[in-house]
Amino acid sequence: MKIVISIFLLLATFQLQAQDYFLQDKGPFDPDIPSPEAFFGYPVGSHHTRHDQIIAYLTKLAEVSERAEIIQYGKSYEHRPLVMLNISNPDHLENLAELQKKHLLATVPGSNADVSELPVFINLGYNVHGNEPSSSEAALLSAYILVASEHADIQKYRSDAVIMIDPTINPDGRDRHTQWANMFKGDPLVADPADAEHNERWPGGRTNHYWFDLNRDWLLGIHPESRGKLNWYHEWYPNVVTDFHEMGTNSTYFFEPMKANASKDPIMPAENYTTLNDKFAEYYVEALDDIGSFYFTKEVFDGTYPGYGSSYPDLQGGLGILFEQASSRGHVQETPTGKITFAFTIRNQLTSSLATVKAAVENKDLLYDYQKRFFKSAISNAEKSNVEGYVFGDDYDENRTKAFIDKLLLHRIKLYELEESVKAKGKTFSPGNAYYVPTKQPQYRMVQTMFETYEEYTDSVFYDASAWSLVNFYNLEYAPLKKGAKKGKEVTREDLKLKNIEVKKSNYAYLVDWNDYNSPALLWRLQNAGANVLSAFKPFSLPVEGKQKDFGYGTLVTPVSQQHISGDSLYSLVKDAANEYSVEVSSATTGYSKSGVDLGSRYINTLDKPEAFMLIEDGVSSYEAGEVWHLLDTRVDMPISKIPMRNFENINWERYNTMVMVSGSYKQLDSTDHEKIKNWVSSGNTLITIRNASEWAIKNKIVKEKLIEKEKDKESDEQIDKAKQIERKPYVEASENIGKQSVGGAIFEVDLDLTHPLAFGYQREKLPVYRNSSVWIAPSENPYATVAKYTADPHIDGFITDKNLNEFLKPSASLIVSKVGKGRVVLFADNPNFRGSWYGTNRLFLNALFLGQHIDVPSE
Ligand SMILES: [Zn+2]
Repeated sequence: MKIVISIFLLLATFQLQAQDYFLQDKGPFDPDIPSPEAFFGYPVGSHHTRHDQIIAYLTKLAEVSERAEIIQYGKSYEHRPLVMLNISNPDHLENLAELQKKHLLATVPGSNADVSELPVFINLGYNVHGNEPSSSEAALLSAYILVASEHADIQKYRSDAVIMIDPTINPDGRDRHTQWANMFKGDPLVADPADAEHNERWPGGRTNHYWFDLNRDWLLGIHPESRGKLNWYHEWYPNVVTDFHEMGTNSTYFFEPMKANASKDPIMPAENYTTLNDKFAEYYVEALDDIGSFYFTKEVFDGTYPGYGSSYPDLQGGLGILFEQASSRGHVQETPTGKITFAFTIRNQLTSSLATVKAAVENKDLLYDYQKRFFKSAISNAEKSNVEGYVFGDDYDENRTKAFIDKLLLHRIKLYELEESVKAKGKTFSPGNAYYVPTKQPQYRMVQTMFETYEEYTDSVFYDASAWSLVNFYNLEYAPLKKGAKKGKEVTREDLKLKNIEVKKSNYAYLVDWNDYNSPALLWRLQNAGANVLSAFKPFSLPVEGKQKDFGYGTLVTPVSQQHISGDSLYSLVKDAANEYSVEVSSATTGYSKSGVDLGSRYINTLDKPEAFMLIEDGVSSYEAGEVWHLLDTRVDMPISKIPMRNFENINWERYNTMVMVSGSYKQLDSTDHEKIKNWVSSGNTLITIRNASEWAIKNKIVKEKLIEKEKDKESDEQIDKAKQIERKPYVEASENIGKQSVGGAIFEVDLDLTHPLAFGYQREKLPVYRNSSVWIAPSENPYATVAKYTADPHIDGFITDKNLNEFLKPSASLIVSKVGKGRVVLFADNPNFRGSWYGTNRLFLNALFLGQHIDVPSE
């Protein structure tokens, strides 16, 4: 008995000490509220806490205290709840709906709402990158302190603020990493950076279920994590939002202000960068100096791209703040300056969290004034602009247009149907297919973000993309209007609901335009159910229900005879698919066309069902692989086998007719493996390569194509001349100068061959593509093989050096097909599936997948 007691005491002392590292000076604490350590049975920092445990603890706080309530705002792909713990005085929490209403008045342009009595709304957001785990642990401590502490400062925070804690923005990624770090944790701990604990396997925990970086998705709004968050966001418009990260282990700590050399979103009020950031920085300096932590500001990181967790709030009248902590990536790791512990990283994040709350509370008036002025200036800036609104639309593809409208609505941009046709930029935009977005609205800055393009930049080295005009991602025709269009009915979410598609039963054939974004999904549904579907490689015109109708390249032809299933089964299959994907189906009664080919023509090809696999793991870009997987899973409902590189030897080649290789080093593949791939393609199969994989295929002679390469060093005489001209540059400028040369993500225009199967479904030769690489493919020597080439004046949006533009980009091809025996390789220089949001170029990839087997490369 005695022994038991003394062990218990020992444990209690140890716990107190462990917690003291984080909690000293923060108390006294309400003894009825459990600390994280008491709740979990281990000190914070000694173990990685799973997301379900985090939720259990926050739920406990909400249960035992009237100062906290927990709400769920969404759910991840892997069914993990996304939650927010609201902390404030019980009075505030009871009246939260009323406070919310008053708070939101500050976002109504020109309203003279009295906000002097209102609490400030603070959103502490943690762990968007799953393997940057210190912040979620800090969230536990922040929550505990803010709920349980009776310290005068903390009491003041609760009465002057509503603090909304989002403990884990990316729980699927966090738990991947959590499992990893815990399962390799040694006892004693191993600090050796080479230990497995510090080296996650592919794809790592940074990203979400589909291996996407959620810290780019705030603008793109593709994933449930961000969509849930954006819907929450626009209900609250917090005054301050934090975004906690980790960076390389051999570093210190970063907080804003960001890079001084002004890589700044050009539409942001300067005040955000100057007054607000500088003011908050004073608090971080004081708090971090106080605990002896080193840090830096201004040198790197920019908030130019508007889809970060630290930049999106800046575009919504709030202040978004980025923090970057040197990572212990595991429980403890050696660095040149000593060991960095998990607990140390957590303490810095906790310190910044509390400093943020303090700064927000002490600058409440400034933040509310700023928020009011921000939305007021949205209107006055729009009035000063010479653009009254934008018109956009597509005459052929309703579902792609709807996908773009979904994004506008997600950002609370107001848009309207057209009352009458509008002529602009040589095109007629018609009611029914086109829409109008006025600039004079509270979300004017988001309107600019969606439609404006830029050519000049104050800086040339970007942390990420330098182009984000979403209208180009969706390949929608659009035009700025000097004089606004006549507004029709306002467009709402109701308008995005699936339409009821009537399909008339046919005894001859069903025809489906290939134009619609969802047509490939419909095709897969039919093929997967065993239907025999053909594709028209030449256009035709047929009578449908008494009227002559034109059908373009790629039209799907499903004969009623020549099927293994009955006419009735086929009818219900077609009808269900048409309704599920909202794609129109025409019922033909004859195969004789008025113009173009007949339905029995040799240009109407029976399609092979794609049996596809993709190589993944070590050396392969998890982002690009994830983009392919996500596209097929979520938009086409089609499976793709993801085969790890380590199983290359065991691939059953007979089983597949299509192989996808995204960017990767593919170093593990030797010349025998190259031959294996080449032989498989030669026997009539299709290899699709993207970006660096295209370069790989050319360099390893899988195809006989060429790259446009940098000039090799010339011979000796020339070298002497060259030596004379060698320019010296200041050492300190090196990283800026070199960074400039990379193509960091910009939008360019290509010209498509609309008669090529890879371009089926496109109606315009001109297509915007996204480029973020230096893979320059020379146009093929075969005149029929270059499907997409850059136009003479290709720049649409984003930064590129003149040299890259003129010497490399302009002469190069964006997409070519190369014949290999009876098969072919489809080589993409640009990524058609970038971040799940390039609806405009997805079709090129899906054409390669669904039509690839039927693409010939004719030679003269
Ligand atoms: Zn990060």
